[in-house]
This record gives sequence, C-alpha cells and structure tokens, in this order.
Amino acid sequence: MGDEPNKGGIPHPSVFVEKRRLELIKGYVVHESRTPSKQVRVVTPSQTVGPFYPIALINPGEDDLACKVPGGARALGTPIVVSGQVFDEAGKPVRGALVEVWQANKWGKYEHPVDQTPEPLDPNFKGYGRMLTDAEGRYRFRSIKPGAYPNPGYDNWMRPPHIHYSIFGAGVMQRLITQVYFPREALNDIDPILNGVEDLDARASLIARELPAQHAGFDAETLAFGFDIVLRGSGETPFFVDP
Ligand code: FE
Repeated sequence: MGDEPNKGGIPHPSVFVEKRRLELIKGYVVHESRTPSKQVRVVTPSQTVGPFYPIALINPGEDDLACKVPGGARALGTPIVVSGQVFDEAGKPVRGALVEVWQANKWGKYEHPVDQTPEPLDPNFKGYGRMLTDAEGRYRFRSIKPGAYPNPGYDNWMRPPHIHYSIFGAGVMQRLITQVYFPREALNDIDPILNGVEDLDARASLIARELPAQHAGFDAETLAFGFDIVLRGSGETPFFVDP
C-alpha cells in the first residue's frame, strides 16, 4: 500500500501510512500539532460589512472572462453572455452587490495548480471575473461555454458544464456561493452536486434560462443566458444602499 504510485503528484493519505514517514517529508506538519485537542483561541465574531463596501474593487474588463486583457485575443469556445438580477428576499433589486464568477475553459480545464487533468489550457482564457450590480440589481458578463470535467477522487463522475458564483456586498453578513448550470445538458441529471438540492424548484432555479440571441447584443453565434439570484434573509440582514 505504501508503494502505491502517486499519480497526481499530490501526497495522498493512502500513500503515507506511517507517522514516521510523514515526519520525514520536508515541510509537512503532522496532524496532531496542527489540530490541538483543546481550543486555544476564540472564533472571530462576524460584524456587519457596513454601507461602504468599496466599489473601486472592480477594474475595467473584469466582466469579460474570455480574454486576458481588455480587447485582447478571444478564448476558444462558444461565446456566451450571462446576465441577471440580484434580489433580496422581498423581491427588491440589490444594487452594488459584488458578483464573482469562475469556470473551466472549453475543454473543462481550470487554470489552477489543483487541476491535474491532462486537458489543455487556453492562453486567452482568463476564466474568472467580477462585477457590481447596477441600480436595478443587474449584472452581465461575457465568457465562453465551459466544458464538462471529471471529478477526480469521487468516482470520476463528469461534472456538467457550470459556472461558480460568489455574491457579496454591503449589508451581507456571509457571501452566497452557488453554481449555475446550462439547460438541456444530460450530465445535469446525474450530477450529485446539482441533484443534492432536494427542493425541485430550487434545483431548477440553478439552470440558466435561454434568452433570445439578440438579447446578448453581440454577434449571432453568441448564446445568451439568464440567471437571477435571490439573497436569503432580508428580514434579518439589512441591505445598506446609497441614498
Ligand atoms: Fe467547477
């Protein structure tokens, strides 16, 4: 068991079965000392974000995942535009919310050291972006349709094409993390993460809507999708907005 090949180059617990061997690996801190049995510090309490979450966090071009520099060469793949609105629980648009997105390239590859799959990187694909919602809670970004990819270590099931979302903003105590999927993808039906959402309406809400092509405002080959976000707990979380 200890001679099992280390395929991905990342130490795997089943490879290093003896504590003595663990200690021989340079830089590896053994589990016991990193996780003391007694609590030695209090957990840092949360405090409100307040009304002045910096709008200057956004730079030009950050709403375009499909090129590395504004106006630069485009990434390979089917161009898409994804847009939507962020609402609070009462259906009121949330302005100034920070929407961050990240996704794999057209071959299902992330430009990230943890992604050890053999698929190619696209030198023109940035793969992440961020924007602030406008006065009507609207956001929009350009990208290419992501590819499916295997989920190593979890029976290698194929994850359907998806885009990761993080939503945060003034008055929000804890950012909302989710994923949006594409309609008519067979892999949607067998994805444990998507189907882990038991409420069928909530699950369906994670599938992007197809919008008319002209909605994108770009060339005819660009596909347009809509995805709205509803933040929970408006009764408990005040949303501070500019007057
Ligand atoms: Fe992913």
